[in-house]
Amino acid sequence: MKKIIAAFCLLFVFVKMQSQDLNYFLPDSVTYNPAIPKPKEVIYHEVGEWHITHDRLVNYMKAIAAAAPDRVKLETMGLSYESRPQVLLIITSKKNHANLEQIRQQHVQLTDPSQSASLNIENMPIVVYVGHSIHGNEASGANASLLSAYYLAAAQGKQMDELLDNVVILFDPSFNPDGLQRFSTWANQHKSKNLVSDPNSREFNEVWPGGRFNHYWFDLNRDWLPAVHVESQNRLKWFHAWKPNILTDHHEQGSNATFFFQPGVPSRVNPLTPEKNQELTAKLGKFHAAFLDRIGSLYFTKEAYDDFYYGKGSTFPDVQGCIGILFEQASSRGHLQETSNGLLSFPATIKNQFVTTLSTLEGAKALRKEFLEFQREFYRQAASRAAAYNVKGYVFGDKNDLAKTFHFAEMLKRQQIEIHQLPESWKDAEFEKGNAYMVSLNQPQHSLIRAIFEKTFDYKDSLFYDITAWTFPLAFGLPYRELTGPFTMGDKVNELPMPKRKVEGGKSDYAYLIEWNELYAPAALNELLKAGLIVKVATNKFEINVAGANKKFDYGTLMIPVSLQKETSETVAVMLNAMVEKYRLKAYAVSSGYVNAGSDLGSSRFAVVQQPKIAMITGPGVNATDAGEIWHLLDQRMNITASHLEPAVFNRVDINKYNTLIMVGGSYPDINKDKLKAWVQAGGTLILTEEAVNWAAQAGISDVKFKRAKSPVDSTQKLTYVDRVQIDGAQQMNGAILGAEVDLTHPLAYGYNQKAVSLFKSNKVFLEKSKNPYATPFYYGTDPLQSGWISKENKDAIKNSAAVVVNTVGSGRVINIADNPNFRAFWLGGSKLFMNAVFFGRIIDAASARSEE
Ligand SMILES: [Zn+2]
Repeated sequence: MKKIIAAFCLLFVFVKMQSQDLNYFLPDSVTYNPAIPKPKEVIYHEVGEWHITHDRLVNYMKAIAAAAPDRVKLETMGLSYESRPQVLLIITSKKNHANLEQIRQQHVQLTDPSQSASLNIENMPIVVYVGHSIHGNEASGANASLLSAYYLAAAQGKQMDELLDNVVILFDPSFNPDGLQRFSTWANQHKSKNLVSDPNSREFNEVWPGGRFNHYWFDLNRDWLPAVHVESQNRLKWFHAWKPNILTDHHEQGSNATFFFQPGVPSRVNPLTPEKNQELTAKLGKFHAAFLDRIGSLYFTKEAYDDFYYGKGSTFPDVQGCIGILFEQASSRGHLQETSNGLLSFPATIKNQFVTTLSTLEGAKALRKEFLEFQREFYRQAASRAAAYNVKGYVFGDKNDLAKTFHFAEMLKRQQIEIHQLPESWKDAEFEKGNAYMVSLNQPQHSLIRAIFEKTFDYKDSLFYDITAWTFPLAFGLPYRELTGPFTMGDKVNELPMPKRKVEGGKSDYAYLIEWNELYAPAALNELLKAGLIVKVATNKFEINVAGANKKFDYGTLMIPVSLQKETSETVAVMLNAMVEKYRLKAYAVSSGYVNAGSDLGSSRFAVVQQPKIAMITGPGVNATDAGEIWHLLDQRMNITASHLEPAVFNRVDINKYNTLIMVGGSYPDINKDKLKAWVQAGGTLILTEEAVNWAAQAGISDVKFKRAKSPVDSTQKLTYVDRVQIDGAQQMNGAILGAEVDLTHPLAYGYNQKAVSLFKSNKVFLEKSKNPYATPFYYGTDPLQSGWISKENKDAIKNSAAVVVNTVGSGRVINIADNPNFRAFWLGGSKLFMNAVFFGRIIDAASARSEE
């Protein structure tokens, strides 16, 4: 009997796996318009039979829009880094399509308290943004989008008509086109005709870096707020153009889990998110539960996953009168996988995602007025929230770094935050009119502004799924001030002016000086060196006449002596001007090398800068996002190329063509340590961040010592088993902001103007200060926490520790950076430290970094 049942089960599985057509997924009570192409007619396979590639996905979305113009309009939001279109379907009734722009405008007025009171929401459609697979290797979402698009375009009947009349659907089939393409290629190329379900098989074990990330190996589901990446920027234009009421975010989790939908853990919701948001999330949750019950799927809620960091797709909407919903489906990864819940088929994972899109839309229709009213009320109350809050506004801007100031202002404007010029009456010299801006908290985006500017120290819970603080002005290293009293503002900034620069003093036959403070100064330095110019850097302060007046110059000022160049003074002038304009730098022409104070331009205190020839170790074991941040910094921001070497390639090739080697957090079991050490000894600059610092010390390449955090429990304590997650979790370093003290005279600190630099720490690399008093240019004092949550034990370990230690190894240098200076590409306050390591690591005086002294 057992055998017969087993055989039957196998047969059942076989049938279910091999022959699912649309009937397996679609509700059977509905009729469909035969004029609408089914997915297979366009993509050449059934949904779930193969992983959908992004190009076929787009083909299908285009076909749907062409076949159902009354319901579906296709928009291209923009292109991903790899030039894949980010398509958006706008799906609603024919009647709504005829008035779409008017519907949009009226809807957006709900978020404008000056217009929203008089709006009649009785017949106003609700706007739902449906989004899929921001992690490209969590592909059931994007694959389910084929079904949802077909269903929404083709389903007939009264229920469907009602849905389309009452809902405008912004349908985003793939949040991360490049990641989806990469993953689908992997999953498909390893699929067997007879499905292999063994999780050990290659199909389920993607090669590094995997399809989770975008082109630069970034997690796009951390980028909704900073919007560093083109995919986020394109998408946000549509988010703000429509101000949806609900935004869904379809993900996958571990294969042994079931299905998760929000609400999550109440104590792990960001306090800026209103309670009513969570109430509505729970009301919508009843619809997901009912729909999943109907198809027999297991699920869980109110556990795991926090709703704290506003850079995540399901949390970002929660601070803007919208409800973000996270869905997490257990992943089959490939096409069929053995799990602790039995065999998990790819089609089964797709079905749950499809069904919860239907439940979302059904809930949106049923709760339409409540969601619309909530949105109106959320923005209406912005003024009273502003009145009740002690901070009334902010002023921000770095007069020494206009590009950074520009990028910060650009980020605010992208999120529809109103900013103003300083008023004529402005007195405080730290902020200069034209190089600084003001933002009032009394505006509709009040809560979002707080999410960007505030420091956080109070938490209801000590468990975090993501980072605990991100205070953006600290991350940017941007001077800012809270305004608590009454203040006046200058003109509203409509178009943000990109700062323009030219060489002060015109053409020189003697020398040019470039200030190093600006964000893009390293990009200019690299281009000048690449063009074969001789460039020196000031290791001393000096004062010199510029256009007849004395001017002070700081450590790190670049000096280009005209007579030492192979090019004529005319050519040098043209190159300098082009560089200054392109990278918006402060540069000066001088006619004499004689200074009024400090070192003359011919002094040996001006050190020759070498062009960096960079390699970074990438591949298995390396933290892909850390490496991606450096790739993005060098390539996108600085126009600097670097070779990415897999460990096996590193071991095989001649590495003497590189003078700079970068290793980020990760493990490096396969690197040839002797080869690496010999390269440093011969004069290389090895830049280490996070766990690579531990690795190099253990490998005997660098000489640094570590501190350890004490355990929060000792063996005499008796603890409850159920509390273990909370106690252990509290000791994680999820990410907080620390203020490091800086030796501004050290080459690694060139370009910094303040003695405190905010760094981001999300690891347990606690460095001892060097015994050499000159070798710890960045270090922590007794109370470095600026924003975020850190346990007492970890705090004790950080106290008086080092953030950066430099070692001399033979003729080379090892630069140990304990933290992540380039976090998520919005940590612009750390990029100067990193670029200094790249350009000036090799000018650090050997004796100042020798550890045995
Ligand atoms: Zn995910």
